[in-house]
Amino acid sequence: MSFRALLTSQADDGTTTELVDLTDEDLMPGEVTVDVEYSTVNYKDALAVTGAGRIMRRFPLVPGIDFAGTVTASDDPRFAVGDAVVANGWGLSQTHHGGLAERARVDADWLVPLPERFSTFEAMAIGTAGYTAMLCILALEHGGLTPDSGDVLVTGATGGVGSVAIAVLSGLGYRVVASTGRPSEHDYLTGLGAAEVIDRGPLGEPGKPFVRPRWAGAVDTVGSHTLANVLAATERDGVVAACGLAQGNDLPTTVLPFILRGVTLAGIDSVEASQGVRHTAWQRLARDLDPDKLAMAATTVGLGDVVATARRVLDGQVRGRTVVDVR
Ligand code: NDP
Repeated sequence: MSFRALLTSQADDGTTTELVDLTDEDLMPGEVTVDVEYSTVNYKDALAVTGAGRIMRRFPLVPGIDFAGTVTASDDPRFAVGDAVVANGWGLSQTHHGGLAERARVDADWLVPLPERFSTFEAMAIGTAGYTAMLCILALEHGGLTPDSGDVLVTGATGGVGSVAIAVLSGLGYRVVASTGRPSEHDYLTGLGAAEVIDRGPLGEPGKPFVRPRWAGAVDTVGSHTLANVLAATERDGVVAACGLAQGNDLPTTVLPFILRGVTLAGIDSVEASQGVRHTAWQRLARDLDPDKLAMAATTVGLGDVVATARRVLDGQVRGRTVVDVR
């Protein structure tokens, strides 16, 4: 049976991504076949489908680092026909066909049963970005942060990770400071739960390695000078979860925040997180994410809109989460 998919191919002058028809013969090996209902455009997808970043390690490949859908065939006892499942990361869109297609076949180990609370649409409104936001919050909690510790900063606030992080943290009782380059989105950010919105400009400039503390913790999606300045202004025994590189993958800092204030820098890797951690993150999202706030952050597009959306993501013009209705 044929199905529609995006396919990214390598050409002499870069990569091209087109809408094509594939058949089940084109699917890669795996124990579980899924009728994909929704995928998303994460920042990493934007890099992959435009060729702006080296994400794919083989071509041609179906992009899409995540999907949610219904199992149609399974050789693994953990999954039965009709189960709703979600997949994030692993080899998707790197070495294995990803989620931007009507059908996917993957290793059973890559799938998580969808918590009953979520529809497949909501699972992708969360997507890899939202699941990563929860991994960041789990890391802050692991480092001992509580709502009584003080303010928590979220950088890249209007982005996918940032939006979900604000919604969950504010719901847990944290006072959230949102850093953004888009002052026009002030009402969106306070609607998600931010208590204060700050201009990202000064945080993105080269700064001093150690300054007056301003927050007890942070979720940083930006990296580079921003992360260095965030660390420099983190309170004693504070915790910063670093997951992104929207400004850059460098980190021009010193050891001072670590050795003079006991600051913890927690690294977040969503791609190869263990099954146990994934289950915990999805269960915590089911418990701690307000569905109305999730709906505020989500926009829906079709498969044919993905490439244009990806360009807008890289230009910083997309707010919140973009869900792709692949059907
Ligand atoms: P989005 O594109 O949705 O959001 C990124 C946000 O960063 C933008 O909305 C913008 O927010 C801000 N931003 C963009 N460019 C710059 C810049 N040059 N300087 C400062 N801020 C900037 O991406 P996601 O939320 O999906 O992902 C965020 C980051 O996290 C990405 O780098 C992504 O690769 C990474 N990531 C990492 C994962 C992991 O496993 N470690 C998993 C998922 C994502 P604003 O306009 O509000 O300032």
